[in-house]
Amino acid sequence: MSPVDAPPLAEVLQQAAMVWRLFRAGQSLDRAIAAVVDKRPNLRPAVQDASYSAVRHLAASERIIERLSARTPARDVAALLAVSLAQLQSGRYGDHVVVDQAVSAARSSPKTRAASGFVNALLRTFVRERESLLADLRVDEVVHYNLPRWWIERLQRAYPPDWKAIAESQQQPPPLVLRVNTSRLSVDAYLRTLQDLGISAMRVGPQALWMHEPRPVSAIPGFSAGDVSIQDGGAQLAASWLDARPGMRVLDACAAPGGKTAHLAELGATDLTALEVDPDRALRIEENLRRIGVAARIVIGDARQPDTGVLYERILLDAPCTASGIVRRHADIPWLRRPTDVAQLTTVQRELLDALWPLLTPGGRLLYVVCSLFPEEGREQINRFLERRPDARQVPLPAAQLLPTSTSVAAWQDCGLPTLHDGFFYALLEKTR
Ligand code: SAM
Repeated sequence: MSPVDAPPLAEVLQQAAMVWRLFRAGQSLDRAIAAVVDKRPNLRPAVQDASYSAVRHLAASERIIERLSARTPARDVAALLAVSLAQLQSGRYGDHVVVDQAVSAARSSPKTRAASGFVNALLRTFVRERESLLADLRVDEVVHYNLPRWWIERLQRAYPPDWKAIAESQQQPPPLVLRVNTSRLSVDAYLRTLQDLGISAMRVGPQALWMHEPRPVSAIPGFSAGDVSIQDGGAQLAASWLDARPGMRVLDACAAPGGKTAHLAELGATDLTALEVDPDRALRIEENLRRIGVAARIVIGDARQPDTGVLYERILLDAPCTASGIVRRHADIPWLRRPTDVAQLTTVQRELLDALWPLLTPGGRLLYVVCSLFPEEGREQINRFLERRPDARQVPLPAAQLLPTSTSVAAWQDCGLPTLHDGFFYALLEKTR
């Protein structure tokens, strides 16, 4: 969008503040954005940008509001301040532009009009004292890493030497990583196409490449034809590690939106069932498969109560989890989760493992995956499963707990693991009898 087409910043701030209200009331950022811009689709890119920026500066902005307000501002005022302070911190617009537009936004709504003087004063104070204020606030790890305290404590406990590097890498902008459909073209051939088009990219895994500049799918060569898909390098390991060969009966038990289902089909799985509990999300599986030109049987249902009449040689269990490994892509996650969610999700994962295990043929394999860094959902979950199931053995994999890597990566050498990826836990389990 050129600056001439761009909607006025005041309007964007106002809409982003509405998103913020919904998000701080517990709605995911994407849902909140969709709800707010539903009737104003032309505002979507700018509102999305402002809302994501606000989440990336959440801890700092909320502390600034606290520090510079004599009493707690009304929710609508606090929301407008949070999104405006994020714009000031990101430096995308000049300070005076943001302050003026925030005040206009405040004046244009009856909910914030009376506080427009306060909005003006607080933002101006921030601009004046920015450096000392931020230096002071960033001493606190919650502000420095933009993560809730309980989340930081979990990372510290699980990764004493690495937690800072993990938290830093999760503050980076999410890299756009593609999976090349190697049943159609090689990664090198696709890279050459990009080079010819002047698009900068780098290989970061067996089928993975990183496009250095983010772009919409409509501007990714070959996307609509199914030559490439968007999928993190770590997520791309699932289909190859499951090793589903043609003719094997395969179940993808938690399948939507179908990224891994499509990859399994690309790699040759012919008898593939995709099971998903959420009917709306299941629609995305169909879309994904159609774009690539592959097929699977899509079933809507709860994998904790599966149809026990059919046995499978391969099962992929990409279980629901805290998503603590993909915070770089979903910065809202740590602020939406509560500490008690970890135990609840761990219970669901255990129920899924126990319900799906009987569906495996003797000698069959189940690949357990979570995009999580918390050991309760990964290593500890699998250790407990192995204690419960004497007929299960763990098959070694090149890696179990993948920690998110930074985008300052070296070029990929021909080794199995990708060099750029989010955080995942993998365990391959074989049924011994
Ligand atoms: N494998 C997917 C991919 O690569 O695109 C991502 C799967 S996502 C991590 C987990 C999915 O499991 C969600 O779509 C969720 O709705 C679904 N799910 C959660 N509980 C489930 C259950 N009991 N049975 C089946 N699906 C479930």
